[in-house]
Amino acid sequence: MRIDVVTIFPDYLKVLDLSLIGRAADRGRLDLHVHDLRDHAHDRHRTVDDTPLGGGAGMVMKPDVWGEALDDVLAVDAPTGGRRVLIIPTPSGEVFTQRTAEDLAGADSLVFACGRYEGIDARVPDHYASRGVEVRELSIGDYVLNGGEVAAVVMIEAIARLLPGVLGNPESLLEESHSAAGLLEYPVHTRPTRWRDLEIDPVLLSGDHTRIARTRRDQAIARTVGRRPDMIARMDAADLDREDRAALATMGWAVPAGAPHPVPVRIRPATVHDAEALADLAARTFPDACGHVIDPEFIAQHIATNLVPGLFRTWVDDDRVDLVVAERLAPQSASQASSGTETAQTPIVPDLVGYAAVLREEPDAAGEPPTGIDPRPACVQARPGQVVGELSKVYVDSTMRGSGLAPALMSVVTQRAIDHGVSLLWLGTHITNKRAQKAYRRAGFRQVGTRTYNVGGQDAHDVVMIRRTGEGL
Ligand code: SAM
Repeated sequence: MRIDVVTIFPDYLKVLDLSLIGRAADRGRLDLHVHDLRDHAHDRHRTVDDTPLGGGAGMVMKPDVWGEALDDVLAVDAPTGGRRVLIIPTPSGEVFTQRTAEDLAGADSLVFACGRYEGIDARVPDHYASRGVEVRELSIGDYVLNGGEVAAVVMIEAIARLLPGVLGNPESLLEESHSAAGLLEYPVHTRPTRWRDLEIDPVLLSGDHTRIARTRRDQAIARTVGRRPDMIARMDAADLDREDRAALATMGWAVPAGAPHPVPVRIRPATVHDAEALADLAARTFPDACGHVIDPEFIAQHIATNLVPGLFRTWVDDDRVDLVVAERLAPQSASQASSGTETAQTPIVPDLVGYAAVLREEPDAAGEPPTGIDPRPACVQARPGQVVGELSKVYVDSTMRGSGLAPALMSVVTQRAIDHGVSLLWLGTHITNKRAQKAYRRAGFRQVGTRTYNVGGQDAHDVVMIRRTGEGL
């Protein structure tokens, strides 16, 4: 690749003689030429700038001086007569990203025109574009430098390291931040394994490459969620496997069925303001669980009598009930979702897409159990002193199937129940609902028996599963 840089400070580009880029130039992989713009200024002071037409502060670089310089540089044939790009660094350009670097690494010749002062007369890029030159006005970020030289060095380094033979180990390019995976790189470590009381994750020393890869992927996801939620919002859903989705769901992002990208979702304790939306969600999701085996009129009956706003209000007020909801947020709330802060965009009617509840088996002052708790089946045997909770609900909207939200809800509600003393969890789920049973098994539940459960007047047959959650399971 041939690279030409036109500048009033040729010495600025001397850093390109160093390190890997310098070595690539020495080995002939890069053909670097730096030109002094002032060689094309013909007055006694070698003037390259003038006052802005129309007034205003600062000075503007003259089009006639730039025109002569660029005509000269562009007159030299590009190697193999291939693709040549004129790059004008400017803070008002399109943002230079890794994708831009990858694209430009495919060119045969790059010409950088480094501005100073208020920049180059705007007719210069227009002129060369109108003459068929590929012109790119590029910004290296949302801040303003004094000149284009540093920006040119940044772009040249990012582009050149992608060229064959420049990096010692080309595999370094595969897993980097901003590579095709669309994630920031995971945190990296080297010896010593313990440094100033800081240890590394022992998985890294396990030699188990599958686990190491999974751990690193989860760390990359967590880092990207925390630092660059905009990148998560742009991730291609097709690149996310089940474990990625589960990890994302615990971090405030879910991938709705068929959606191109993850969307921000917050899992939080329910409040009294959720009661109506919860009843709506419950009415939508309950038939999914047993609609194929229970008659519609029995389901309707069950929903009308049990899954009503009043029930959810009662649960919110009952400290024996852990009730959590998953709320879909507006996309602009993504950064707030990942930082866990409240958001001004919280809708009046929350957009609930999932909920989960654990009901603790404890009498209140009047000796009553929590409203809606099921009788504990005989196959669920508590040890002395164990506090029993029923995992009464885990439902997600059908649009969120496979999004990882159900395990995330389960994990949050279970942790809350454990924090409130529960050490044995049980649940019933319809005998034919293999998908749910598999999900519960993944969450650590195992089947201990069956029960008959009445849905709106019709008997349903459930498997009963338990999970011991206390110390020394
Ligand atoms: N008046 C210009 C504006 O507000 O857009 C800023 C000019 S700046 C002080 C001078 C030169 O620095 C620009 O012509 C450009 O070459 C370079 N420069 C400054 N910030 C840059 C950035 N973020 N990306 C690329 N080049 C930049």
